[in-house]
Amino acid sequence: MTGLSVVQSYNVAVRNLCEFAAKAGDLDLRFTPSPTAQQGREGHQLVASRRGPGQEAEVRLSGTFVSGDTTLVVSGRADGFDAERNVLEEVKTFRGAVEAIAPNHSALHWAQLKVYGCLMCQTRSLERIHLHLVYFDVQQQTEHLQQQECTAAELQSFFNALCTRFLAWAQMEMAHRRRRDVALQAMAFPQAPFRPGQHDLASGVYRACVQSRPLLVQAPTGIGKTIGTVFPALRAMPERGVDKVFFLTAKTPGRQVALDALHMVVARQEQTLGVATDSTHAGQAQRCAKALRVLELVAREKACEHPDKACHGQSCPLAQGFYDRLESARLAAAERGWLDQGSLRAVALTHSVCPYYLGHEMVRWADVVVGDYNYYFDRSAMLYALTASNNWRVSVLVDEAHNLYSRACSMYSAELAQVEALALRGSLPGLLRSRLDEWLNQWQLLVLATQSKKPDAHWCLLEELPEAWLRSLQRFNSAVSEHVNEHPIDAHGALLPFYFKSLAFAALAEAFGEHSLCELELNGAAEQGADTEQVLLRLRNIVPTPFIKPRMDAADSLVLFSATLNPPDYYINLLALPDGTQLLDLPGPFAPEQLAVSIMRISTRKDDRLASLDALVGAMAEQFTRQAGNYLAFFSSFDYLELALARLQQLYPALPVWAQQRQMQESSRQVFLRQFDADGQGIGFAVLGGVFGEGVDLPGRRLVGAFIATLGLPQFDDVNQAICERMQARFGRGHDYTYLFPGMQKVVQAAGRVIRTPTDTGVVLLMDERYREWRYRRLLPSWWRVSLDKGAPG
Ligand code: SF4
Repeated sequence: MTGLSVVQSYNVAVRNLCEFAAKAGDLDLRFTPSPTAQQGREGHQLVASRRGPGQEAEVRLSGTFVSGDTTLVVSGRADGFDAERNVLEEVKTFRGAVEAIAPNHSALHWAQLKVYGCLMCQTRSLERIHLHLVYFDVQQQTEHLQQQECTAAELQSFFNALCTRFLAWAQMEMAHRRRRDVALQAMAFPQAPFRPGQHDLASGVYRACVQSRPLLVQAPTGIGKTIGTVFPALRAMPERGVDKVFFLTAKTPGRQVALDALHMVVARQEQTLGVATDSTHAGQAQRCAKALRVLELVAREKACEHPDKACHGQSCPLAQGFYDRLESARLAAAERGWLDQGSLRAVALTHSVCPYYLGHEMVRWADVVVGDYNYYFDRSAMLYALTASNNWRVSVLVDEAHNLYSRACSMYSAELAQVEALALRGSLPGLLRSRLDEWLNQWQLLVLATQSKKPDAHWCLLEELPEAWLRSLQRFNSAVSEHVNEHPIDAHGALLPFYFKSLAFAALAEAFGEHSLCELELNGAAEQGADTEQVLLRLRNIVPTPFIKPRMDAADSLVLFSATLNPPDYYINLLALPDGTQLLDLPGPFAPEQLAVSIMRISTRKDDRLASLDALVGAMAEQFTRQAGNYLAFFSSFDYLELALARLQQLYPALPVWAQQRQMQESSRQVFLRQFDADGQGIGFAVLGGVFGEGVDLPGRRLVGAFIATLGLPQFDDVNQAICERMQARFGRGHDYTYLFPGMQKVVQAAGRVIRTPTDTGVVLLMDERYREWRYRRLLPSWWRVSLDKGAPG
């Protein structure tokens, strides 16, 4: 929905008007195969080509509705109009049985057609009109017609009713927007005074938002990055006419930090405005008096009230009649303004609607949305889709942006295992089973072809996609689609999840290119005579640029920030940031005296690990004896961690230790972190790049030092070597992009756990002689004062 730029005029598309004001009945998210965008376009063209020469296609229509001092401008494009026959036509494509089109979908289609009908009568001064709703079956290429004849007066009355409902809301929205912008313009920094460096951060972000230029900010821990970016982005909203700010996080704790910062902003705004914090006002405009609406998006598993049910009215009570109760729920949510998970849930349950889907609805009406990266960067990202379809002007803030590259790669990667296909086989009906068998046969041929070239390979990089295998997959997918169409109310068991996975794989295969690798994994196949259960085909994205670039481009302003974005060109190249991206590298707020960093001259290369193990654990024990307290010791792998832990326990049995496990539930993680008590003593063992390597805040005496063994470089294995070659070919920096930069980023993040506040002091021991080399040392934070000459303990 657009149109907040002119105060007394509000623009709305016919489709959005109807979705807002004419949707009724159940929420129904049952899977029904729908035509692809391509099939939809072709269907529309085919229907248009069947009409006579008198048919006007794609007729632009626009009209107004005036109430008080506000004009609602409604516009859209009707599919076809035959003036001679006085027939207005709206075409909807579908697959499957026409009877399966849900009544509430059909009602929505009719609402759209009636609005077009009204606009057509207004435009051409018609007294009556024939409305034809044509459902076009993309598979059978047949048309199913529903028709009505309406008078202009009937249509005008229908149009007026929709517009009246919509405009009441739109006027409230315009009042909210004015109020919001006034409050933001008047708002002072809520956490004054600024910390050292924080004012530069805030100014840089403000300029970037107002000038609509992307910004990459490296700002160290302790500077107050979250409030230092949120506040200026909000202050820039009125200047730039920004509709929404999206604060995107890599991990759950980041969301809470963002909400805490926003809470400070809201509290300050309410002070400024003198707004009562209760919600007892009467009247809609008053009831939506909160000056900033903040929405937290959480995953469906965390928001769902009925995890044992499906998202449709026949299964879930919160889906039944969802749209009938949405209006009151929406109003209550807008009134509340602060919509974190708990708050949104309370509103949703009061109005008996699903909290998860109420959250989706409130994205349209929120000023700030806090959620995971995937809501904006994923293939089917809701925030991006809404931004594009509504022409929203958005500011996108990417927290802990060093994570975005790996997260984006995983969003555009997919894999299928033969064992999953085999597991389905027994439950499939005839035709599906024979399609699956064809595909399983292709798996075998693929394995045999690979083994004939590389008999001992357990992993193999395919130079091109296996076309026959893919065709077979697509045939299987089509058969599943037909089957689901014909049996829409069957449960389908494991078939649907597998189908979605294979559809995602097929979609990524269509977009396959230099940005991705196609890998075949044959674990155990060579020894066990093509043990097919171990075969896996993977599309591994390694350069997400082509996928995320449209998302980057759709943001009016884009700020990516982290403590570790060094070197910037690595992130600029891999994250599709435009050439004009500004860089802001802020000095740390901490004094070099707070952190004693030294480099230990031992080798932690794989072949030297056993030989240097005693020196390594000896240095840890020595430091612990010199200054008792809590330490974190980081290793490049669990194997290395376990080796060092066992040796330390053997040589220094009295030294308290605890260790990260390979699989750790949230409760076990909390137990690990609770060991870091301010009065505690001991060493916690963890892996670099793991759950304790970043995002862990242990201020003061809770953590006095860190030991970091190795350079954190990823393993030199076949996969990384293939990535390295591709990075070399693409950027001329294969080793740096594959090993050096990701490794050092993990090291700096891990070391960043030690100094968290201006009064913290601590030590970092970098346990590898290679840190003495400039190519590694230059990637360490500039405020560190590094001592180069710590030898092995004597
Ligand atoms: S409560 Fe759960 S099952 Fe019900 S509609 Fe919401 S997400 Fe779906």
